[in-house]
Amino acid sequence: MKPEEILEQTRKLIVEHADGDTDKWWYANRYVFARLGLDERKTKTGIKRELFDANKPCHYCEKPFETRRNVHLHRLDQTKGYSKNNCVLMHAECHQQCHAESKMEESSVLEEKEAVLVKRSRRYDDMPFLYWWDISPSLANSWDRFDMVEFLKKDSGERCVVPPAALKGFLTPDRQTARKAKSWGVKVLKDHQDELAFEPGTGKAGKYLFLPVIWINEQEED
Ligand SMILES: [Zn+2]
Repeated sequence: MKPEEILEQTRKLIVEHADGDTDKWWYANRYVFARLGLDERKTKTGIKRELFDANKPCHYCEKPFETRRNVHLHRLDQTKGYSKNNCVLMHAECHQQCHAESKMEESSVLEEKEAVLVKRSRRYDDMPFLYWWDISPSLANSWDRFDMVEFLKKDSGERCVVPPAALKGFLTPDRQTARKAKSWGVKVLKDHQDELAFEPGTGKAGKYLFLPVIWINEQEED
């Protein structure tokens, strides 16, 4: 069975189980999601421990670790999964530096959560909008690598997830802005807080378009 088919089957089972009850659907969906995530974290913890026990220094700065806190696993080949052979340890800061150098802002996120692209925004208090994410054309060209795009509010930790297919219709050439790289602007406006607002851009469209979203905020279980 292919991974897509496993996912399809699982979705069907959850729908059957819920039998129209939205609470039951939510609980079962969340349960499976959280447990599978936990499985992955356990795998990572095991690999981390093995690498620690082998006394490997930081792969980036080559200094030994003084503590086990703030140490990250880094996959040498980003297209492959977590295994002892594909993983090294790095100080959290070194890890960040390492990804910054590869000039892929989004890659560290890819590593943590496969196929979910996370866009982060600080809060703006002195503007007609509260949050603002830019989407560059080069990113929009690689949408198909992701199952979901997550828009994250850095201050509150609130996030919404949108499938790339749902964004495509908003990211048309006439809605590109005059900003660097002709990126598209996605915002949360003060008077439209339950929607993502897509900037009008330089074309003749002239109006914001809105996509309703649900903001969620959960503590990660561990
Ligand atoms: Zn280091």
